[in-house]
Amino acid sequence: MDVARDVACPKNLMSQIPIGKIIKKYKIRPSKGLGQNFLVDKRVLQKIVATAELKPDDIVLEIGPGIGNLTQELAKRVKKVIAIEKDIKMVEILKNVLDEQGIQNVEIINGDILKIQNSKFKIQNSYKVVANLPYYITSPVIRLFLEKVEVKPQQMVLMVQKEVAQRIVAQPPDMNLLAVSVQFYAKPEIISYVSKRAFWPSPKVDSAIIKIIPRQFGKKATIVGNLPRELFFKVVRAGFSHPRKQLLNNLASGLKLDKEKMKEWLLKNNIQPSQRAETLSVEDWLNLAKCFKMK
Ligand code: SAH
Repeated sequence: MDVARDVACPKNLMSQIPIGKIIKKYKIRPSKGLGQNFLVDKRVLQKIVATAELKPDDIVLEIGPGIGNLTQELAKRVKKVIAIEKDIKMVEILKNVLDEQGIQNVEIINGDILKIQNSKFKIQNSYKVVANLPYYITSPVIRLFLEKVEVKPQQMVLMVQKEVAQRIVAQPPDMNLLAVSVQFYAKPEIISYVSKRAFWPSPKVDSAIIKIIPRQFGKKATIVGNLPRELFFKVVRAGFSHPRKQLLNNLASGLKLDKEKMKEWLLKNNIQPSQRAETLSVEDWLNLAKCFKMK
């Protein structure tokens, strides 16, 4: 894992985006429930844009554009931005803001990213997801784009809570269910940590920019190397069911298998029955699940 460098918080106002006028003009009262924390540090915006390696032909899907601070930076650099925003008030504001800037390559869709049908935003053959995500939907959004959509994105650049980012990129002996779930489908990397002061209003916790590059196996990723994904996750979930217990006990009770057989199965895969789930790599889980399938 690369060591992520810290993006300093705005020490001087030069790096701050002046959003006061917009806040006043539209009488904006940010909704906590919708995770409305607007990114106001130009340097962080630049970092996101640089990480996405945008090209003039790119199609970008932005989730939660808010008042459009990131949207504008994206729109200037790519062919088209499709921006999905749940809050109708934000949609109206964003339309005005973009009009005033003469930006015309943004399609704004009012809807909840987790409920909206693919057909509403016709996913292209090749697209990138870029978002300063509302934190309450981080995991479901990642799952949506790695597991469920018909066409997976080329890459995702997401702002998430710092602790969540660290859990996503974890390695043995500190693995967790989220890390296995993401790393099964993709290669995640922390690009940079971001101070809570880069947002208005400031959230309680710091954030991180992560880049997730999906492995492009199969169209819907239901099967990986002849292994049905349900089976893989059944084994992984059983393994993590009681984090402090040994793997042997978790797997035997979770999968309703004989302990002796289970022991054999683990040893055959070079895993000690006394190990804990946190110490296994994605590769280990794949091997275990393959054996389980043959039973
Ligand atoms: N991208 C902007 C705003 C981030 S705040 C910026 O960086 O400044 C998060 C935004 O996501 C808010 O505008 C909020 O209304 C929107 N949002 C919250 N839940 C959503 C959902 N389920 N689907 C789409 N947008 C959502």
